[in-house]
Amino acid sequence: MKKQSNLSRLLEIAGSHKYLTYASWVFSAISALIALVPFYYIWKMIKEVLEVAPNFGQAQNLTGNGWMAVLFAVIAVLVYIAGLMCSHLGAFRIATNLRIQTMEHIVKLPLGFAESFGSGKLRKIVNESSAATETYLAHQLPDRANAIATPCGLLVLLFVFDWRLGLLSLVPVVLGFLIMMAMTGKQMQEKMKEYQNALDDMSNEAVEYVRGIPVVKTFGQTIFSFKKFKDSIDRYKVWVIAYTRQLRTPMMFYTAAINGVFATLIAGGLLLTQDGVTSGFLLDLIFYIIITPVISVTLTRIMFQSENAMIVDDALQRIDSVLHLKPLEETKHSKHPQNASVELKSVHFSYDGEKEVLKDISLTIPAGQTVAFVGPSGGGKTTLANLISRFFDPQSGMVKIGGVNVKDIPKEELMNTVSFVFQNSRLIKASILENVRMGKPEATREEVLTALHHAQCDDILEKLPQGVDTVIGTKGVYLSGGEQQRIAIARVMLKNAPIIILDEATAFADPDNESRVQAAFSRLSEGKTVIMIAHRLSTVTNVDQIFVICDGRVAECGNSRELLAKDGIFSRMWKNYQTSVQWKVTKE
Ligand code: ADP
Ligand code: MG
Repeated sequence: MKKQSNLSRLLEIAGSHKYLTYASWVFSAISALIALVPFYYIWKMIKEVLEVAPNFGQAQNLTGNGWMAVLFAVIAVLVYIAGLMCSHLGAFRIATNLRIQTMEHIVKLPLGFAESFGSGKLRKIVNESSAATETYLAHQLPDRANAIATPCGLLVLLFVFDWRLGLLSLVPVVLGFLIMMAMTGKQMQEKMKEYQNALDDMSNEAVEYVRGIPVVKTFGQTIFSFKKFKDSIDRYKVWVIAYTRQLRTPMMFYTAAINGVFATLIAGGLLLTQDGVTSGFLLDLIFYIIITPVISVTLTRIMFQSENAMIVDDALQRIDSVLHLKPLEETKHSKHPQNASVELKSVHFSYDGEKEVLKDISLTIPAGQTVAFVGPSGGGKTTLANLISRFFDPQSGMVKIGGVNVKDIPKEELMNTVSFVFQNSRLIKASILENVRMGKPEATREEVLTALHHAQCDDILEKLPQGVDTVIGTKGVYLSGGEQQRIAIARVMLKNAPIIILDEATAFADPDNESRVQAAFSRLSEGKTVIMIAHRLSTVTNVDQIFVICDGRVAECGNSRELLAKDGIFSRMWKNYQTSVQWKVTKE
């Protein structure tokens, strides 16, 4: 049932290319049938020799048969090649369509998707899961057409040779098939699923283990961490054995049943030919003993396809986990922000639809103001900032920029309106020039250099071998966190968006870099609306407004003087902060 729906789903994705897939099945079945024809001619040839034996006078007839056999063999090869081409073309198109469909969907998803979904999982979907559907269509389904056609063709041959023996040989075939069906049903699928899960687990643990090596080493926890990986290997081992056993036991019975063909055929044959065994009949018997197990073996191939069907089922489920994510609503009537003000009105937000991370947040940031979000970690500051540039949409309430609901601002425009600087701004493996130019693809070299200058990056460029053209991340060219941060600031400067969000952007800068990073920020912030999410309270003393975000709510708001006078959360945070700074100073 499920298999069927997966298949029809794939064929739907294939569009007009589905005919290639159909053709590949037909070709596969035909090539299986043609491949049997030489078999028939060999039987006929030997039979002729036996029946006219020992007189070889009809050699002409024999050569004729021989040629026919060769001709059919050649045709079989040609048909096989045609089938292969069809299946690969069809499957390639389907997998390509699927990848494009997935990517097109991802583009429509909220920006926060990439972060919360995980790049590893996404890569698996776009690569492996799409490839699994390709394998299924290009190999497994044509293989199934072949696996059905071969035993059918062979059965016909058996009846052509001698219908009585044909009927007899059905007994072990059907018996074996029934045993297999009974024993490889649901249980096997469950074991197979467990085995697959254990395999997934093991590879995840391996990745985690390698990723964690630096941490593990510094804490001397090699043994503990390795144990988790080792446990996953042990679990995998258990399931491999269980699965193999589940697979092997019916195979054993099955083989026994198939070998019953000897007994059945010989006993039955003797009964049929009470008047004496002729050499022709003996020949038939030999052919039956060869052919019947072949029928059974090809039939079992169909059984094992349930495994493939499960793999493709799993692949489609993974793909659907992306395709079923709700895209951001498209704007019906796009509007343009009037200025760089930000306003949130009764915003409620939850990542999982259960736990509210933001609870009824309302705040206004006039254009050109610099404001700070402060508060305990996990309070919702980052989430709040992310909603402004529509990384996610709130469940209720509204986010406005320049008086316009962000949902009505075209995506491109919104991107150009808000810039982010994160704690660890990642640079890509490219030249500094290219890294900065990402902020404004059409920027000239001069513009990039100016931005770098304003972002206090001159000292960085001077020490690099090829200056701004140096590719970072390769050949020992590594930059410190603070240096990377300044280059990231240059990128944001070049983009020149009117609203800037700094999310704990100086938290990891070393003291040496910090003053430069601060200077770069000041330059960046000129004339902009700035939202700082700040760790160090010293950086927020001069801002226009401070919002203390606590447990998803705006707990306090005002400038630092007002808040300090209040003896609330902020003033407590400030006292703690002062103590920790003093402590640091005295220690040094
Ligand atoms: P802050 O920036 O103030 O430290 P965050 O906005 O990062 O706080 O987090 C607020 C809450 O939302 C926390 O409880 C955090 O665990 C949760 N959270 C943050 N990001 C995600 C996410 N991508 N998926 C689910 N929960 C998240
Ligand atoms: Mg945060």
